[in-house]
Amino acid sequence: MRCRVCRGSAAIEVKRHNAAFCGQHFIDHVRRQVGRTIHDHAMFGPDERLAVGVSGGKDSLALWDILHHLGYRAEGIYLDLGIGAYSQDSLSRVEAFAEERDLILHSVSLLQHYGFSIPDAAKATRRTPCSACGLSKRYVLNEEATRRGFDVLVMGHNLDDEAATLFSNVLNWNMEYLGRQRPVLPASDGLAKKVKPLIRVAERETAAYAVLAGIDYEVEECPLVGGNTVNRLKEWMAMLEHDSPGVTQHFLGGFFGRASHAFAVDIPDLHPCSKCERPTTGERCAFCRLQERAVT
Ligand code: SF4
Ligand SMILES: [Zn+2]
Ligand SMILES: [Zn+2]
Repeated sequence: MRCRVCRGSAAIEVKRHNAAFCGQHFIDHVRRQVGRTIHDHAMFGPDERLAVGVSGGKDSLALWDILHHLGYRAEGIYLDLGIGAYSQDSLSRVEAFAEERDLILHSVSLLQHYGFSIPDAAKATRRTPCSACGLSKRYVLNEEATRRGFDVLVMGHNLDDEAATLFSNVLNWNMEYLGRQRPVLPASDGLAKKVKPLIRVAERETAAYAVLAGIDYEVEECPLVGGNTVNRLKEWMAMLEHDSPGVTQHFLGGFFGRASHAFAVDIPDLHPCSKCERPTTGERCAFCRLQERAVT
């Protein structure tokens, strides 16, 4: 296998693009894909202040690295979920990453700032930890991004994550989630603008990018991942992709390009939560209700 650009020995094959690349040209290829996504969806401009939600995993650290190399002003926000050694190790990697590149990192501990951890929340709600975790990440990252005056909150969801989420939303015909599944969600009162520049980069490609770019990311999986149903769907989609390279991008790109407008939902009447004042449809927002149950 030869690199498409320099004809040198290839380090990685990207079947859906019918191409192979050496290490440096793969790095260039991924940065170009992300740059194109940012441009095509008018995600943000060079002068905007970006907050990247970082977990310590390959996707978010690769994204932060790419944004840095593309010349954007991106700071990181890390949420410590209180999942034992996994969270401690992830934080160390994010801190080392930021320090090596002289980047600004803001870290928030769910336990210290909000009085509970994800294992506490899972125990209190008797539901899979991932639903409490997803809700907490959305809430706290939005809270930090708006409170600190960032223009845009940038998330590291890759092509496979987004396609599996779409698959799940279609399987359940979840009209509200389908309406909100967009590469760009504009800002509204109390809610930061949210964008996903990795939607053209597959998971194995963010992993390869991270390795080739010398990023020391958290390789251990979260110990609570067992109940994550989107992960199961990802495995199924990986089998489809193996047999038909390109099917994942076709599915997701087709939705964004041709179908998502059909699911546009009116933003429900939002008003301030009686406790935290963040926008909600009920009297108290879902995060405050979770916190009430989880704090012991
Ligand atoms: S696997 Fe679930 S609990 Fe663990 S970090 Fe991911 S969403 Fe959170
Ligand atoms: Zn090359
Ligand atoms: Zn609230």
